[in-house]
Amino acid sequence: MDIKLPRGTQDILPSDTAKWQVVEELIREQCRMYHYKEIRTPVFEHTELFTRGVGDTTDIVQKEMYTFQDRGNRSLTLRPEGTASVVRSFVEHKMFGYPDQPVKLYYMGPMFRYERQQAGRYRQFVQFGMEAIGSSDPAIDAEVISLAMSIYKRAGLKSLKLVINSLGDTESRIAHREALVNHFEPHIEEFCSDCQNRLQKNPLRILDCKIDRNNPLMETAPSLTDYLNEESAAYFAKVKEYLTMLNIDFEVDPNLVRGLDYYNHTAFEIMSTAEGFGAITTLAGGGRYNGLVAELGGPDSPGIGYAMSIERLLLAMEAEKIEFPDTTSLDVYLVAMGEEAKKKVTELTFELRKHKISADMDYLERKVKAQMKSADRLKAKAVIVIGEDELEKQSVMLKDLSTGTQQLVPFTSLIDEVKKLTEAK
Ligand code: ATP
Ligand code: MG
Repeated sequence: MDIKLPRGTQDILPSDTAKWQVVEELIREQCRMYHYKEIRTPVFEHTELFTRGVGDTTDIVQKEMYTFQDRGNRSLTLRPEGTASVVRSFVEHKMFGYPDQPVKLYYMGPMFRYERQQAGRYRQFVQFGMEAIGSSDPAIDAEVISLAMSIYKRAGLKSLKLVINSLGDTESRIAHREALVNHFEPHIEEFCSDCQNRLQKNPLRILDCKIDRNNPLMETAPSLTDYLNEESAAYFAKVKEYLTMLNIDFEVDPNLVRGLDYYNHTAFEIMSTAEGFGAITTLAGGGRYNGLVAELGGPDSPGIGYAMSIERLLLAMEAEKIEFPDTTSLDVYLVAMGEEAKKKVTELTFELRKHKISADMDYLERKVKAQMKSADRLKAKAVIVIGEDELEKQSVMLKDLSTGTQQLVPFTSLIDEVKKLTEAK
């Protein structure tokens, strides 16, 4: 039998998990600073949540979902994104009644999409996302964008580009939609079959087509910006004003259309402009979704959010050659010479751990020299050696591996001495 991992998935090996932990912790910390709280929803949901919440003209719903029938004949789907689940939970738990509004939430976990595998595109990937539900203050649009940017900046990324657009309110979108249909209809046979379907169902999504992106009609398509009514234009102006005030650089791209159906007003994407990042340049995308809560059975609460995958963040960090701190190194390695010493080493190893000192020892009955080599390889800060001599003196030899100095330390003061040595590093 030759079983390999499924296409589009990856094993994250111990040599890489430390990087993941570093960025995950950084994200959680930023969320605490901005006062967003974590929500954890199930990995699978009723399929209908996504057909309604993401929209049945989207690539996600049409081509990318892992949908299955369970033993009770329910149609379930592995979540392809997080917003629909968060909004479902917001409605189900009546969070609109919480005294503190808007409700500010974040999530981090695996998402599943049946996609063609390429660098930065997986079938299982980890998305971090956040949602602020219950406010239509343009200042919160700026807050959401700022949180996203702050994460990338704290991760050390420099080659970033923020692109924003406004999709306007329903009235503006209807006017723009009509203009789009008029623009594309006479030439629709030049477009892919997906676009032909989109023409009547959701012509805005033609602008987001990956197959027809070079068709000259894309360039000349009526721009959303020209169809914003006064209110929508004023809203967009305020968002831009806040971003400027917060010193967040941005570009306006009137053709930026997010893939999901439920967006209105603010839409944005963050790209990496780093050389070597690869063909996919988008790190994160998000926007406002004022109709979604009502669509999923709740009151008319406005919302905004965004999502990014950890995989693409790590790729961008790699492209910018950002170094990660080593969080896996060991405080102490204990070396035993002889059987009696081995007993003491075992006892002390477990004792050190109780005092929050990371400690490891030999389990292969290797010679002293090989044990010392392990200590080096594991980059331990210190080595403790116990042989017959040390046992007799009720002491250990404690060696600082960075300086090479060593001292005899009695068992009774060992914890203190080790702490002194490792905490100084
Ligand atoms: P793309 O145009 O790259 O397919 P999308 O519009 O499908 O992106 P969203 O649904 O908005 O992306 O998801 C938000 C973010 O989630 C993306 O910006 C990206 O960081 C990440 N993401 C989406 N799909 C994948 C995937 N298959 N593998 C890794 N990350 C992904
Ligand atoms: Mg996609």
